[in-house]
Amino acid sequence: MHVNDLVVAGFGPSGIALAAAVEDHDDAHPERPRLTAAYLERAADSAWQPHQVLPGTDIQHHFLRDLATPRAAGSRFGFVPFLQQSGRFYEFTLLGGYVSRLEWSAYVQWAAEQVRRRPAYHREVVAVEPVADADGVVRTARVVSRDPRDGRRYEDFGRNVAVATGHRPHVPEVFREAVGERVFHASEFLLRTAALPPAPEGRPLRWAVIGAGQTAGEIVLHLHGSDPNAQVHSLVRHAGFRMYELGHFSNEVYFPEETEYVYGLERGARERVMAQARATNYAAVDPDVSTALYTAHYQDKLTGTHRLSMERRTEVTGVDVRPEGVVLETAEVFTGERRRLEVDAVVLCTGYTEPHVPEALAPFASLLAREDDGLPAVTRGHRAETVEGCEVGIYLDGLTEWRHGIASAASFSQMAVKADAVHRDLRGQLARQRESAARPAPVTV
Ligand SMILES: Cc1cc2nc3c(=O)[nH]c(=O)nc-3n(C[C@H](O)[C@H](O)[C@H](O)COP(=O)(O)OP(=O)(O)OC[C@H]3O[C@@H](n4cnc5c(N)ncnc54)[C@H](O)[C@@H]3O)c2cc1C
Repeated sequence: MHVNDLVVAGFGPSGIALAAAVEDHDDAHPERPRLTAAYLERAADSAWQPHQVLPGTDIQHHFLRDLATPRAAGSRFGFVPFLQQSGRFYEFTLLGGYVSRLEWSAYVQWAAEQVRRRPAYHREVVAVEPVADADGVVRTARVVSRDPRDGRRYEDFGRNVAVATGHRPHVPEVFREAVGERVFHASEFLLRTAALPPAPEGRPLRWAVIGAGQTAGEIVLHLHGSDPNAQVHSLVRHAGFRMYELGHFSNEVYFPEETEYVYGLERGARERVMAQARATNYAAVDPDVSTALYTAHYQDKLTGTHRLSMERRTEVTGVDVRPEGVVLETAEVFTGERRRLEVDAVVLCTGYTEPHVPEALAPFASLLAREDDGLPAVTRGHRAETVEGCEVGIYLDGLTEWRHGIASAASFSQMAVKADAVHRDLRGQLARQRESAARPAPVTV
């Protein structure tokens, strides 16, 4: 059985940034043995948000906040080396820092390709299981994965495991039974729209887009702009699309010092800090999208085409999927007035949830140390502490917004410094594991 120093589940931005920190460190210390690692990714490649990269959309962070530069400005995994190798360096400088989602997705894929230890694609991690030695101590994890194409199973072993599988798409209760061909989460947008049955001859496609965040805004604009006949209903629970909080000072919550601050707070205070910071990243749109939405809405009125309907203060209370379309029952949030809306498809831009302990870690759940409130005890270096008798390092990488604050999960701002924190903790953990392995076993009489 080959036991790796590290097995990483998920090779998206968090997994790649960690691999970059590992390889940069190994390159800087050629005299030391290289860390052995296995990288497992469910998808066919590492393209970023592949089913949501819409033409004309741009990233929400500065391009220097990439997978490596904030950790090490000279790293070969940075966005600038990517630009240089692409041959677009000078053209890029004329764009004033604009980076499309398409280009960012290509950069993330390029960075994955720079990792020398090749990742294994089509490998969905389904379970991380403890393996006890003869003395009962757990020093190894068995990482079980399956190929989603044919169900074939694989096992990898690690002294340490980083779970970097990202946040889970959130589907509100009312839509759960309806999810399928016509009702789907935005994370599958391009995949599902390509497979959608066409509207009957002579009738335009009718869409309902649920939600008021950046993704909802981009999808409304895309549907409205890419099909000159499409009928788009945008359903939001408050008065309309809001804009992100863009103040310079309030956006300092994405600085590393903020993570230090938040990490030091007790749970109630952390939740209050998070509630204050939410408007910088969630349930709102950027100024470009806000302007484009309002312009489209205005043009619609001006021309009398009525293809874009802004259904404000509207909540979906019932969903009926039929062979020919979907009927939504809705209620006005304050008056309770009920309506029916018939559409061909419903796009759920209803966000993501962060699991405290990802499903695949269930076999390890009883070995994770807990805080008084039952939540996992997590180090500043994103390691879930384990109980006595378990020496495996379990890292929750990109899964601890609840513990480290807004910048440490659903944002690129600290992707590189987060990887640095995980990597430093990992090196310390490996040193302890080596010491433990060298210690003679206790003699029993
Ligand atoms: C539409 C959208 C736009 C965004 N735009 C921005 C932006 O402009 N700027 C910004 O800072 N942030 C943005 N974010 C947030 C950003 O996506 C995250 O910061 C970043 O992608 C998180 O990286 P991650 O690797 O932790 O998770 P993810 O990007 O979710 O990657 C997780 C990876 O794990 C894989 N995986 C999942 N489950 C398994 C499994 N069981 N086994 C193996 N592999 C698995 C997935 O296929 C994926 O490759 C956006 C998010 C969304 C949804």
